[in-house]
Amino acid sequence: MSEPLLSVRGLNAWYGESHALHGVDLDVNTGETVTLVGRNGVGKTTTLRAIMGLIRKRTGSIHFDGKDLIALPLHKTARTGIGYVPEERGIFASLTVDENLILPPVVAKGGMSIEEIFSLFPNLKERRNSPGTKLSGGEQQMLAIARMLRTGDKMLLLDEPTEGLAPVIVQRIGELLAELKRRGMTVLLVEQNFHFASKIADRFYLMDHGKVVSHFPVEELESRMGELHEVLGV
Ligand code: ATP
Repeated sequence: MSEPLLSVRGLNAWYGESHALHGVDLDVNTGETVTLVGRNGVGKTTTLRAIMGLIRKRTGSIHFDGKDLIALPLHKTARTGIGYVPEERGIFASLTVDENLILPPVVAKGGMSIEEIFSLFPNLKERRNSPGTKLSGGEQQMLAIARMLRTGDKMLLLDEPTEGLAPVIVQRIGELLAELKRRGMTVLLVEQNFHFASKIADRFYLMDHGKVVSHFPVEELESRMGELHEVLGV
Protein backbone atom coordinates (compact mmCIF):
# COMPACT_ATOMS: atom_id res chain seq x y z
CA MET A 1 0.00 0.00 0.00
CA SER A 2 1.27 3.50 -0.81
CA GLU A 3 2.25 6.03 1.86
CA PRO A 4 -0.57 8.06 3.41
CA LEU A 5 -0.85 11.56 1.95
CA LEU A 6 -0.88 12.97 5.50
CA SER A 7 0.74 11.17 8.39
CA VAL A 8 0.74 12.65 11.89
CA ARG A 9 2.65 11.01 14.76
CA GLY A 10 2.94 12.01 18.39
CA LEU A 11 1.62 15.53 17.79
CA ASN A 12 1.72 17.71 20.89
CA ALA A 13 0.60 21.34 20.92
CA TRP A 14 0.40 24.09 23.50
CA TYR A 15 -1.45 27.39 23.90
CA GLY A 16 1.12 29.21 26.01
CA GLU A 17 1.63 26.92 29.02
CA SER A 18 -1.60 25.04 28.37
CA HIS A 19 -0.91 21.59 26.89
CA ALA A 20 -3.79 20.95 24.42
CA LEU A 21 -2.66 17.97 22.29
CA HIS A 22 -1.05 14.92 23.89
CA GLY A 23 0.41 12.82 21.09
CA VAL A 24 -2.13 12.70 18.26
CA ASP A 25 -1.56 9.95 15.68
CA LEU A 26 -3.52 9.84 12.44
CA ASP A 27 -3.16 9.00 8.76
CA VAL A 28 -5.15 10.16 5.76
CA ASN A 29 -4.68 8.29 2.48
CA THR A 30 -4.93 9.93 -0.92
CA GLY A 31 -8.56 10.34 -1.94
CA GLU A 32 -9.97 9.54 1.49
CA THR A 33 -12.38 11.61 3.53
CA VAL A 34 -11.54 11.21 7.22
CA THR A 35 -13.61 12.67 10.04
CA LEU A 36 -12.44 13.72 13.50
CA VAL A 37 -15.12 13.46 16.18
CA GLY A 38 -15.15 14.14 19.90
CA ARG A 39 -16.72 16.32 22.60
CA ASN A 40 -16.24 20.10 22.66
CA GLY A 41 -12.76 21.09 23.76
CA VAL A 42 -11.00 17.74 23.17
CA GLY A 43 -8.64 19.23 20.59
CA LYS A 44 -10.18 18.69 17.14
CA THR A 45 -9.74 22.27 15.96
CA THR A 46 -6.33 22.40 17.61
CA THR A 47 -5.29 19.32 15.61
CA LEU A 48 -6.17 21.05 12.32
CA ARG A 49 -4.47 24.29 13.43
CA ALA A 50 -1.34 22.47 14.59
CA ILE A 51 -1.09 20.57 11.28
CA MET A 52 -1.25 23.87 9.38
CA GLY A 53 1.31 25.56 11.62
CA LEU A 54 -1.16 28.08 13.05
CA ILE A 55 0.01 26.88 16.46
CA ARG A 56 3.77 27.25 16.59
CA LYS A 57 4.40 25.49 19.88
CA ARG A 58 4.13 21.90 18.70
CA THR A 59 6.23 18.74 18.62
CA GLY A 60 5.92 15.40 16.86
CA SER A 61 5.97 14.65 13.17
CA ILE A 62 3.69 15.76 10.36
CA HIS A 63 4.40 14.38 6.90
CA PHE A 64 2.37 15.62 3.98
CA ASP A 65 2.96 14.61 0.38
CA GLY A 66 6.59 13.76 1.03
CA LYS A 67 7.32 16.93 3.01
CA ASP A 68 8.01 17.32 6.70
CA LEU A 69 5.71 20.12 7.90
CA ILE A 70 6.79 20.31 11.53
CA ALA A 71 9.66 22.68 10.81
CA LEU A 72 7.80 24.80 8.25
CA PRO A 73 6.25 28.18 8.97
CA LEU A 74 2.58 28.72 8.07
CA HIS A 75 3.20 30.50 4.75
CA LYS A 76 5.35 27.61 3.52
CA THR A 77 2.89 24.96 4.73
CA ALA A 78 0.10 26.74 2.85
CA ARG A 79 2.13 26.29 -0.36
CA THR A 80 2.64 22.54 0.02
CA GLY A 81 -0.88 21.82 -1.28
CA ILE A 82 -2.82 21.60 1.99
CA GLY A 83 -5.67 24.08 2.53
CA TYR A 84 -7.58 25.00 5.68
CA VAL A 85 -11.14 26.30 6.03
CA PRO A 86 -11.63 27.41 9.65
CA GLU A 87 -14.96 27.19 11.44
CA GLU A 88 -15.41 30.94 11.00
CA ARG A 89 -14.83 30.36 7.25
CA GLY A 90 -12.28 33.08 6.56
CA ILE A 91 -13.74 34.80 3.51
CA PHE A 92 -13.35 38.53 2.90
CA ALA A 93 -16.72 39.81 4.10
CA SER A 94 -16.54 43.20 2.39
CA LEU A 95 -15.51 41.76 -0.99
CA THR A 96 -17.85 40.24 -3.57
CA VAL A 97 -17.95 36.53 -4.45
CA ASP A 98 -15.98 37.29 -7.63
CA GLU A 99 -13.36 39.25 -5.74
CA ASN A 100 -12.99 36.51 -3.11
CA LEU A 101 -12.40 34.02 -5.93
CA ILE A 102 -9.92 36.20 -7.83
CA LEU A 103 -7.69 36.83 -4.81
CA PRO A 104 -6.29 33.36 -4.01
CA PRO A 105 -3.28 32.60 -6.18
CA VAL A 106 -3.36 29.46 -8.31
CA VAL A 107 -0.34 27.81 -6.69
CA ALA A 108 -0.40 24.38 -8.27
CA LYS A 109 -1.50 22.68 -11.46
CA GLY A 110 -5.12 21.69 -11.03
CA GLY A 111 -6.24 24.96 -9.46
CA MET A 112 -9.77 25.53 -10.76
CA SER A 113 -10.64 28.42 -13.04
CA ILE A 114 -13.45 30.74 -11.99
CA GLU A 115 -15.65 29.14 -14.68
CA GLU A 116 -14.97 25.65 -13.27
CA ILE A 117 -15.80 26.93 -9.79
CA PHE A 118 -19.10 28.33 -11.04
CA SER A 119 -20.04 25.08 -12.76
CA LEU A 120 -19.48 23.28 -9.45
CA PHE A 121 -21.22 26.00 -7.39
CA PRO A 122 -23.99 27.44 -9.61
CA ASN A 123 -25.48 29.26 -6.61
CA LEU A 124 -22.24 31.24 -6.20
CA LYS A 125 -22.45 32.29 -9.85
CA GLU A 126 -25.88 33.75 -9.21
CA ARG A 127 -24.42 35.68 -6.29
CA ARG A 128 -21.14 36.66 -7.96
CA ASN A 129 -21.59 40.41 -7.37
CA SER A 130 -22.85 40.10 -3.77
CA PRO A 131 -20.51 41.05 -0.93
CA GLY A 132 -19.63 38.36 1.62
CA THR A 133 -21.76 40.11 4.23
CA LYS A 134 -24.90 39.50 2.16
CA LEU A 135 -24.31 35.76 1.71
CA SER A 136 -26.12 33.12 3.74
CA GLY A 137 -24.07 30.88 6.06
CA GLY A 138 -24.21 28.08 3.47
CA GLU A 139 -23.07 30.37 0.66
CA GLN A 140 -20.19 31.61 2.83
CA GLN A 141 -19.15 28.02 3.53
CA MET A 142 -19.26 27.16 -0.16
CA LEU A 143 -17.27 30.28 -1.03
CA ALA A 144 -14.65 29.37 1.59
CA ILE A 145 -14.27 25.90 0.04
CA ALA A 146 -14.31 27.34 -3.49
CA ARG A 147 -11.42 29.68 -2.62
CA MET A 148 -9.32 26.67 -1.63
CA LEU A 149 -10.15 24.89 -4.90
CA ARG A 150 -8.69 27.86 -6.80
CA THR A 151 -5.28 27.09 -5.32
CA GLY A 152 -5.01 23.53 -6.63
CA ASP A 153 -4.57 22.13 -3.12
CA LYS A 154 -4.54 18.32 -2.95
CA MET A 155 -5.98 18.17 0.52
CA LEU A 156 -8.50 20.21 2.51
CA LEU A 157 -8.84 20.51 6.28
CA LEU A 158 -12.44 21.56 7.02
CA ASP A 159 -13.61 22.59 10.48
CA GLU A 160 -17.32 21.91 11.05
CA PRO A 161 -18.51 22.89 7.57
CA THR A 162 -22.16 22.23 8.48
CA GLU A 163 -22.18 24.17 11.76
CA GLY A 164 -25.33 26.28 12.05
CA LEU A 165 -26.63 25.49 8.56
CA ALA A 166 -30.16 24.45 7.54
CA PRO A 167 -30.64 20.75 6.62
CA VAL A 168 -31.13 21.47 2.91
CA ILE A 169 -27.81 23.37 2.79
CA VAL A 170 -26.07 20.62 4.80
CA GLN A 171 -27.25 18.19 2.12
CA ARG A 172 -25.91 20.46 -0.63
CA ILE A 173 -22.52 20.65 1.07
CA GLY A 174 -22.55 16.86 1.41
CA GLU A 175 -23.16 16.53 -2.36
CA LEU A 176 -20.36 18.96 -3.02
CA LEU A 177 -17.89 17.05 -0.85
CA ALA A 178 -18.97 13.80 -2.53
CA GLU A 179 -18.25 15.39 -5.93
CA LEU A 180 -14.82 16.60 -4.73
CA LYS A 181 -14.12 13.07 -3.53
CA ARG A 182 -15.03 11.66 -6.97
CA ARG A 183 -12.50 14.10 -8.39
CA GLY A 184 -9.81 12.70 -6.06
CA MET A 185 -9.71 15.34 -3.33
CA THR A 186 -8.43 14.24 0.08
CA VAL A 187 -10.28 15.69 3.08
CA LEU A 188 -9.79 15.74 6.85
CA LEU A 189 -12.82 17.21 8.52
CA VAL A 190 -14.09 17.96 11.99
CA GLU A 191 -17.80 17.18 12.10
CA GLN A 192 -20.37 16.61 14.83
CA ASN A 193 -23.19 15.65 12.48
CA PHE A 194 -22.87 11.85 12.14
CA HIS A 195 -25.70 11.59 9.65
CA PHE A 196 -23.82 13.99 7.36
CA ALA A 197 -20.39 12.47 8.03
CA SER A 198 -21.56 8.88 7.47
CA LYS A 199 -22.46 9.77 3.87
CA ILE A 200 -19.01 11.08 2.92
CA ALA A 201 -16.46 9.72 5.41
CA ASP A 202 -14.36 6.63 4.74
CA ARG A 203 -12.99 6.51 8.29
CA PHE A 204 -13.45 8.15 11.69
CA TYR A 205 -10.99 9.14 14.41
CA LEU A 206 -12.43 9.59 17.87
CA MET A 207 -10.60 12.11 20.09
CA ASP A 208 -10.69 12.54 23.86
CA HIS A 209 -8.47 14.60 26.16
CA GLY A 210 -6.15 15.80 23.40
CA LYS A 211 -5.51 12.45 21.73
CA VAL A 212 -7.00 9.84 19.43
CA VAL A 213 -8.66 7.07 21.45
CA SER A 214 -9.92 4.93 18.56
CA HIS A 215 -10.40 4.86 14.83
CA PHE A 216 -12.59 2.78 12.57
CA PRO A 217 -14.05 2.63 9.04
CA VAL A 218 -17.50 4.00 8.27
CA GLU A 219 -18.83 0.42 7.96
CA GLU A 220 -18.34 0.07 11.75
CA LEU A 221 -20.12 3.33 12.60
CA GLU A 222 -23.35 1.66 13.65
CA SER A 223 -21.69 -1.00 15.80
CA ARG A 224 -19.53 1.67 17.46
CA MET A 225 -22.44 3.88 18.46
CA GLY A 226 -22.32 2.67 22.09
CA GLU A 227 -18.65 3.64 22.44
CA LEU A 228 -19.29 6.92 20.65
CA HIS A 229 -22.17 7.85 22.95
CA GLU A 230 -20.01 7.09 25.97
CA VAL A 231 -17.05 9.20 24.80
CA LEU A 232 -19.20 11.95 23.32
CA GLY A 233 -21.40 12.11 26.41
CA VAL A 234 -24.62 12.20 24.36
P1 ATP B 1 -14.86 22.63 19.78
O1 ATP B 1 -15.74 21.71 19.03
O2 ATP B 1 -15.52 23.24 20.97
O3 ATP B 1 -14.14 23.64 18.92
P2 ATP B 1 -12.41 21.13 19.86
O4 ATP B 1 -12.37 19.67 20.07
O5 ATP B 1 -12.18 21.63 18.48
O6 ATP B 1 -13.75 21.69 20.45
P3 ATP B 1 -10.25 22.83 20.62
O7 ATP B 1 -10.91 24.09 20.16
O8 ATP B 1 -9.18 22.27 19.78
O9 ATP B 1 -11.33 21.72 20.86
O10 ATP B 1 -9.71 23.09 22.11
C1 ATP B 1 -8.82 22.19 22.80
C2 ATP B 1 -8.42 22.80 24.12
O11 ATP B 1 -7.60 23.94 23.90
C3 ATP B 1 -9.60 23.27 24.97
O12 ATP B 1 -9.30 23.01 26.31
C4 ATP B 1 -9.65 24.75 24.70
O13 ATP B 1 -10.17 25.43 25.82
C5 ATP B 1 -8.17 25.09 24.50
N1 ATP B 1 -8.01 26.24 23.58
C6 ATP B 1 -8.52 26.36 22.35
N2 ATP B 1 -8.16 27.53 21.77
C7 ATP B 1 -7.38 28.17 22.69
C8 ATP B 1 -6.69 29.41 22.72
N3 ATP B 1 -6.72 30.24 21.66
N4 ATP B 1 -6.00 29.73 23.85
C9 ATP B 1 -5.95 28.88 24.90
N5 ATP B 1 -6.58 27.70 24.95
C10 ATP B 1 -7.28 27.33 23.87
